[in-house]
Amino acid sequence: MSTSRDLTRLGAAQMAEEMAAGDVSSVELVEAALARIDAVDGSAEAGVHAFLHVAADEALAVARSVDEARAAGEPLPALAGVPVAVKDVVATRGMPTTVGSRILEGWVPPYDATLVERLRAARTPLLGKTNMDEFAMGSSTEHSAYGPTRNPWDLERIPGGSGGGSAAAVAAYEAPLAVGTDTGGSIRQPAAVTGTVGVKPTYGGVSRYGLVALASSLDQAGPCARSVLDAALLHAAMGGHDPRDSTSLAGRAPDVVAAARDGATGDLAGVRVGLVRELGGEGYQAGVQARFAEAVDVLREAGAEVVEVSAPHFRYALAAYYLILPSEASSNLAKFDAMRYGLRVGDGDPQATAEAVMSATREAGFGDEVKRRIVLGTYALSAGYYDAYYGSAQKVRTLVQRDFAAAFERADVLVSPTAPTTAFRFGDKLDDPMAMYLNDVATIPANLAGVPGMSLPSGLADEDGLPAGIQLLAPAQADDRLYRVGAALEARLLDRWGGPLLDRAPALGSFPRRDLTTTGAPA
Ligand code: GLN
Repeated sequence: MSTSRDLTRLGAAQMAEEMAAGDVSSVELVEAALARIDAVDGSAEAGVHAFLHVAADEALAVARSVDEARAAGEPLPALAGVPVAVKDVVATRGMPTTVGSRILEGWVPPYDATLVERLRAARTPLLGKTNMDEFAMGSSTEHSAYGPTRNPWDLERIPGGSGGGSAAAVAAYEAPLAVGTDTGGSIRQPAAVTGTVGVKPTYGGVSRYGLVALASSLDQAGPCARSVLDAALLHAAMGGHDPRDSTSLAGRAPDVVAAARDGATGDLAGVRVGLVRELGGEGYQAGVQARFAEAVDVLREAGAEVVEVSAPHFRYALAAYYLILPSEASSNLAKFDAMRYGLRVGDGDPQATAEAVMSATREAGFGDEVKRRIVLGTYALSAGYYDAYYGSAQKVRTLVQRDFAAAFERADVLVSPTAPTTAFRFGDKLDDPMAMYLNDVATIPANLAGVPGMSLPSGLADEDGLPAGIQLLAPAQADDRLYRVGAALEARLLDRWGGPLLDRAPALGSFPRRDLTTTGAPA
């Protein structure tokens, strides 16, 4: 007997298990994902709009090859056949890569990022490219040149940013897994406001080769998923040393999958959890703080010892970030000069100088937020100001790193709310860059110090019924701690809630849902 069920609801680990058991095929999983994208993703005008490009044929071809290999008894990697979506900041051979910008509209990279190469080697069908704030600058996806992504919890609200497309794709059951990048919070803040799990690995844990650089000393790719274990599976598939990235970590990466599995069944006896005094209080929504406090109680009940730690220089982290990031970005974005690839404007006039073409192209191709940061960064790096601005910011960065070192003397992991508020409405912060920047006040310190961070759902805020997130932070190269503690917390919260938070997303229920029939599944 076969049963009718919605395959898009399965997590990545479950998909892998069921494929191995012969209960479902990769083609069925990919077809279900594509049908779901078809049903809910819509366009810039309506729907979730998580995707800028859907690679249906390619994903199906990979799925078919995985099913054939499995039938032939070939050994397959853990995630073989599980569909994955990729943020549009990651170079994908044969698939457009726009970075959410007009300046790269239509550009198809001739090569794959290392992480994409690894996903292809892991035989994961790539569903396509997800929407983002232009050049990963923003916290709402409203800065995408292709129109915003909508939050599956409420289509009138932002899905976070810059990786709102990846988080929304996962939250809306369009993909079980998605790749994100996090320079100041772009994986963790979208995870928080969409009720999903997002991880920024230790700086250097996942190769930056083939990522369109925003701020090279801060950029880090990582997983977006609906569970801690699923995030670990994607993290493990993408991560590890890459000789093509000079900042890639050498040596063996921590076993995040084992940690997630252990955590889900174990307790937290002997684990010291540090509450960061400076990340909370004023400026944080009451419902976000209430859910955070409850999650901390759950950690305590699981056996953790909770201590308070102080990180006095975190209050300067945002200011330092908004000097370091624009400085690096202004330099990284200088290569978009209309000469080598991407948009070219104004070269019809035979008298036009190269400089005039560059200027016209950059004027037309970059949006306001990108221009704002290029100007800011160029200024901060200019002669006479360099020491006062960029130099001072680097000193603050060192102080933030020392705060982390001191805090990790007293605690194994640190915790805070991920973002100060739940998802806000479109337009609410668009005209006030400072209000937009403040979304990342709790996530930025980890990028400045290079330490890993995870966001997982803490519950629904009372004011608006929207998801809030708790952030876990660990010392560099101790990413496994995040997964152990995160999985322990997640298991207990799911018990309390009686199931996943996402089951309660009202907007998701109102989407038309196709009835997908699987073969061979037990009735
Ligand atoms: N929102 C932050 C910014 O606009 C973080 C961006 C990111 O992590 N890519 O810079």
